[in-house]
Amino acid sequence: MSKIAMTTPLVEMDGDEMTRILWKMIKDELLLPYVDLKTEYYDLGLEHRNETDDQVTKDSAEATKKYGVAVKCATITPNAARMDEYNLKEMWKSPNGTIRSMLDGTVFRAPIVVKGIEPCVRNWEKPITLARHAYGDVYKNVEIAADGPGKAELVFTAADGTETRKTIHEFDGPGVIQGVHNTKKSIESFAKACFNYALDTKQDLWFATKDTISKTYDHTFKDVFAEIFEAEYKSRFEEAGITYFYTLIDDAVARVMKAKGGFIWACKNYDGDVMSDMVSSAFGSLAMMTSVLVSPAGVYEYEAAHGTVQRHYYKHLAGEETSTNSVATIFAWTGALRKRGELDGNKELAAFADKLEKATIDTIESGRMTKDLALITSLENVTVLNSENFIKEIRKTLDEMD
Ligand code: NAP
Ligand code: MG
Repeated sequence: MSKIAMTTPLVEMDGDEMTRILWKMIKDELLLPYVDLKTEYYDLGLEHRNETDDQVTKDSAEATKKYGVAVKCATITPNAARMDEYNLKEMWKSPNGTIRSMLDGTVFRAPIVVKGIEPCVRNWEKPITLARHAYGDVYKNVEIAADGPGKAELVFTAADGTETRKTIHEFDGPGVIQGVHNTKKSIESFAKACFNYALDTKQDLWFATKDTISKTYDHTFKDVFAEIFEAEYKSRFEEAGITYFYTLIDDAVARVMKAKGGFIWACKNYDGDVMSDMVSSAFGSLAMMTSVLVSPAGVYEYEAAHGTVQRHYYKHLAGEETSTNSVATIFAWTGALRKRGELDGNKELAAFADKLEKATIDTIESGRMTKDLALITSLENVTVLNSENFIKEIRKTLDEMD
């Protein structure tokens, strides 16, 4: 059998711990036998980030801008314990944070739905994709604890020196004050990334804020989305047969619970933080959740939503058997290969990505799965496989197809 050719390389960002082990197994068993894989390889493993003073992370983000599609393995975000464990020169920043700020992206997270792993919300028949704005609001706040009586004011000094001043509150005792901001540019990027992703995946887009209470701040989000939609996307949405729907955040929450799924839910930063954990846990497992960073320039970076699965890695190092779920990492690869195929007009490559996803889902639905899924499945007579054998079973399914 001849291998599928690729024209443009993918940016491959290798990572850490158990996911690095899975990464190699996936390549060896599920990709290299079928695809003449062209990648530009960046080793984002913590040791190499430390050796290069984290330059490798920046280089990989630059390469992503150049080639348009990247696939990333989970990576360690250093903390105090990691400083000692890896003897680090510095507490390097989160690679995801660095890449996100260089690409100016929005993160879309979608569950991988399989029969036998039912969502807790029974009427969710299709995945709900969560789009989280990843800039500003409470994550870039400034806070003051007022010790006693006093006046809190909000002051904006324009570049020309003009002052706008409003009283927040006259305190007659102790209290707390918080200042938050966002930028028009970032909100516009967020809106465009959401509209583009909706068109790309042919799904309706929902967006919600609390504009009735926050008449300037949240209302700006609502207005920016509405203006960009009217000017640039309305007719394209009509052609694609999809809709854009705006409502209040509390109304959205109520509607999501009653919905069938199959749409994208765009959330402000805090709502997205909270709601993505709710939606992902209701769908079953973080190991069944894909994540893609989409930049307004149309650059895509695919990854699994979970971390490096450190606990399993230590077991692996101790020579013990692990049963780590590789599905989200496989789907990061298929997402990237499909996008590469679409951008290059390489139908064979895109079809292979579809086929590998189907083989993965079919394997689970036939009762062969890793331990994390075996614990929550409604299927009976399940075979629990170790990390390696699960991937080998997917290969068998793949080889048995067509
Ligand atoms: P984690 O790697 O997501 O794992 C937390 C727990 O969730 C695991 O111990 C395991 O539970 C379960 N789990 C997660 N993924 C699984 C999978 N594929 N298969 C089976 N079980 C899975 O989070 P963490 O242990 O808190 O973080 C480890 C490292 O990952 C940290 O250094 C953190 O900085 C990094 N991290 C990276 C990213 C990223 O690169 N995108 C995201 C998050 C965290 P059991 O132990 O009960 O089996
Ligand atoms: Mg969170």
